[in-house]
Amino acid sequence: MAADTPNAPPNAMARGMTVPTLLELRNVDAGYGPFRAIFDVSLSIAKGSVLAVLGPNGAGKTTIARLCSGLVVPTSGAVVFNGVDITGKAAYEFARLGIAHAPEGRSVFATLTVAENLELPLRRTRARGEVETEMQRAFEIFPKLAERRRQLAGTLSGGEQRMLSLARAIVEDAAFVIADELSLGLAPIIVDEVYAMLGRIRDGGATLLIVEQHVRHALALADAVVILDRGAVGYAGTPAGAREVLGLAI
Ligand code: ATP
Repeated sequence: MAADTPNAPPNAMARGMTVPTLLELRNVDAGYGPFRAIFDVSLSIAKGSVLAVLGPNGAGKTTIARLCSGLVVPTSGAVVFNGVDITGKAAYEFARLGIAHAPEGRSVFATLTVAENLELPLRRTRARGEVETEMQRAFEIFPKLAERRRQLAGTLSGGEQRMLSLARAIVEDAAFVIADELSLGLAPIIVDEVYAMLGRIRDGGATLLIVEQHVRHALALADAVVILDRGAVGYAGTPAGAREVLGLAI
């Protein structure tokens, strides 16, 4: 994909605006030790847009998410954020730039309460007085978590843990939120809720990368889609085009 407009939100494109790119992978190869998982992948994500990364099991979706948050370092190619090459920087430096990763699975501290799980990232970045204000903001977005603020995170349902994981990613005012398989194993009604929240996070001005097996939900929210095929880009384009490639009824 070219650097500047292909992933622009459709409303911006309709107005003929050029939307700047927030994050780009340029000709990236990556893997784990001798195993190569990603082959010459290029993609770009426009500011304020939602990119869905789809593909079958093992296609490399999570590895793309990890590349975007600095957890995996490319063996060749570049990661560019806001026009700056950040390839090889430590994951905490990615986090400082406003890149937040809600990883696959139940990534919460099970033996801490809901409130403590949110306080922890906030205490790193906020002055004391601001922590409570930011917590309230998170609880407004996730009212279910507010009801359970004193409950141990390990005793929340799977869907609630996923919400907490997402809330942790956004309390830091992330400019770029990476959500990896948030719907995995959740009841359809909870998936609807999680996606409604992702929509709210986008409406709040964040840019999103969504890795998802739940293709229909992802396509409904996405402005642009990349379908991976054995570690390479098989398709890059609009959600409508992706529906055709995937053989889904429009
Ligand atoms: P899924 O939908 O099953 O989660 P995915 O599309 O997210 O799959 P990845 O998790 O990115 O795929 O994995 C891509 C390839 O890299 C797979 O072959 C996987 O086995 C391998 N892989 C992923 N993580 C590791 C790791 N930590 N160590 C070694 N190999 C890994």
